[in-house]
Amino acid sequence: MRRLLCAVLIFFAAILSSAQNQSGSDIPPYKNPSLPVEQRVQDLLSRMTLQEKVAMLSGTDWMQSVPNQRLGIPSIKMADGPLGIRSWSGPSSETSAEFAKTKVTTTAFPAGVAMAATWDTELVESEGQAIGQEVKALGRDMILGPTVNINRTPLWGRNFEGYGEDPYLTTRLALAYIKGVQGEGVIATVKHFAANNQEFERHRINAIVDQRALNEIYLPAFKAAVEEGGVWSVMSAYNRLNGTYCAENSALLKDVLQKQWNFKGFVVSDWGSTYSTAGTVNAGMDLEMPGGQPMKEWLRKPKTQAAGNGGGWLVSEKVLPEISAGKISTATVDDNVSRMLRVMFISGQFDKPHTATGEIDTPEQRAVARKAATEGIVLLKNAGALLPLDLSKIHSIAVIGPSAAVARTGGGGSSLVTPKYSVAPLKGIQDRAGDRLQVGYALGVGMEGEDPSKDSPEAREQLRQEAVNAAAKTDAAIVVVGRYPKLESEDFDIKSLDLPAGQDALIEAVAKANKNTIVVINAGGPVIMSKWIAQVPAILDMWYGGQEGGNAIADILFGDADPSGKLPVSFVKQWKDSPAYGHYPGENLQVDYAEGIYLGYRYFDKQKIEPLFPFGFGLSYTKFDYSDLKISPNQTSGAPVEVSLSVRNSGSRSGAEVVELYVHDGHSSGDRPVQELKGFQRIALAAGESKDVHFKVDRSAIAFYSTAKKDWVTEPGQFDVLVGSSSRDIRVKGSFSLNP
Ligand code: BGC
Repeated sequence: MRRLLCAVLIFFAAILSSAQNQSGSDIPPYKNPSLPVEQRVQDLLSRMTLQEKVAMLSGTDWMQSVPNQRLGIPSIKMADGPLGIRSWSGPSSETSAEFAKTKVTTTAFPAGVAMAATWDTELVESEGQAIGQEVKALGRDMILGPTVNINRTPLWGRNFEGYGEDPYLTTRLALAYIKGVQGEGVIATVKHFAANNQEFERHRINAIVDQRALNEIYLPAFKAAVEEGGVWSVMSAYNRLNGTYCAENSALLKDVLQKQWNFKGFVVSDWGSTYSTAGTVNAGMDLEMPGGQPMKEWLRKPKTQAAGNGGGWLVSEKVLPEISAGKISTATVDDNVSRMLRVMFISGQFDKPHTATGEIDTPEQRAVARKAATEGIVLLKNAGALLPLDLSKIHSIAVIGPSAAVARTGGGGSSLVTPKYSVAPLKGIQDRAGDRLQVGYALGVGMEGEDPSKDSPEAREQLRQEAVNAAAKTDAAIVVVGRYPKLESEDFDIKSLDLPAGQDALIEAVAKANKNTIVVINAGGPVIMSKWIAQVPAILDMWYGGQEGGNAIADILFGDADPSGKLPVSFVKQWKDSPAYGHYPGENLQVDYAEGIYLGYRYFDKQKIEPLFPFGFGLSYTKFDYSDLKISPNQTSGAPVEVSLSVRNSGSRSGAEVVELYVHDGHSSGDRPVQELKGFQRIALAAGESKDVHFKVDRSAIAFYSTAKKDWVTEPGQFDVLVGSSSRDIRVKGSFSLNP
């Protein structure tokens, strides 16, 4: 009996002790999930030696921060983005033999510019969520995206990654992406901070940007990502900004990011973008990447050195002596480290580590990729309503071009995802056509530089002739042209806005042979169309559509979906019309953003230049009527005004319209753009259906940045509200006044 009593007592004591452990009394405070994050950060920091803290300032390899076994601090495992998850064992980690063994395939979403062309914040949030889920499923913690650098010049090699030329559109989409990613407990990284708008000499170039252009054009998406989106990480840019490398630019990182915007997360350097020890640590650049042995090997390579990459400055051997010499304070190190710890606690890395057990490329994730690819396609021209293809009249088609039979899912560089599968336009069209339509194929021209045997004048002539023959005997010809990663990529800018070699000639020849020629552009931005635009009845821009691009273009060609994408960038008639023409790519390693705030439509409006296709432009298979604009109140002392209107689908098929709201300030004491985008909404409407659309126009929509006052300013007077289908197709107008 006694023995039994003893056993019972031991049993209850064990339960009690386990309960105590669970309630947290025996574990250090930093490991207790129920304590406030700041308390956990301070507790953990107090247990770390200076050496341990300093070790965290630079990475351990290509894509991971340094873990700490003794205290159980995990490493932050990163994955490249933003257009899906790029295998961290991809070419950029060639120095890491261990990772190079495995290649990870994931969902390839459309390029950022295509996502921007959807103007669909919900969809971008779903993309962010899907990416967050895949990051977790792979046991990683952080995605290196979104890219929010503005399209300053159409020649920037990375324009396809970003969201176009307008800061408002870029901001709203970046916020949606961040919300989707971080909602999954994955760290989003808004990049590249700041004014990284060209690849030419990106490691050495000094971008000279005035404060107004910075605040109105180049910084808003970063600011909102921090203040509104609560982004957990910011990546500093490669370039210098106003004289100082971004990674050691305390005006940018300390004054703007930390002090003005109250950023609590951490700054990660772009890969190989640091050039000093104390300057970088003191500026508030918290984590240098890459690190460890892979970094050392990579920096030794002549190619890395020739490019101008810098790195290896935040390793312990360099930081500790600077601390001893009094050039870096321990308080600074504490602040930098605590930023990483804070994010690790908030994102759940200590309490709910990602276990690499989820699924990749699920039907749901594929569905997001397909919806996005379809919604982003922009119908640029549709003379005689050639599209959608009318199968009662069109019985045969020829699909032609260097991008017809190959799925060109994205541009080149660190954002390029390797998907499990991808659908080329030809395949998407064939699958959709089934046996209702005869589908022929001809290459027409080799993609420049892809297969040298096809680049000779004779080979071109022959391929073109084959395409002409194919086009001549069918009811319609679809020519898929554009660029590819060797011509449009991170690391170099685009050589010319003209289509790659032989493509213009191919379109001209096919258009002569078949009056129903449809051109499909598969590229990350504008191309020059002057040689053939008048001869071709229909043009679609599919951008880089990710793994589902081929199905998406079929959806649009056959009318299964209404084209509803709108241009997030203006298309120029010729490069000379571009605002950056004349001050790009700079001289003597300096590029002056002399156009100031006047880029994209802001420039074309002011200079009265007719773009080929304006910002916000995109046709539909149906028709939308705008009416009943109401603004209430029409006088305000600062409170937001409500704008409402009615939009009706007056065509005979269902469709979606992006309603765009611009504000015009005609009374400003300073110079202001003719109009600026301050609201947009995408609405789906059945044939004959009407919907009311509501906007709020607040102070931020009417303010401008005063360089003299170093602040945002609103001036009393009348503001016009312009609502329409593109920046050059305003349908309804009204105004309100800001009281003195
Ligand atoms: C790019 C970043 C990228 C990083 C890691 C850099 O070259 O600029 O956008 O995230 O590499 O691959």
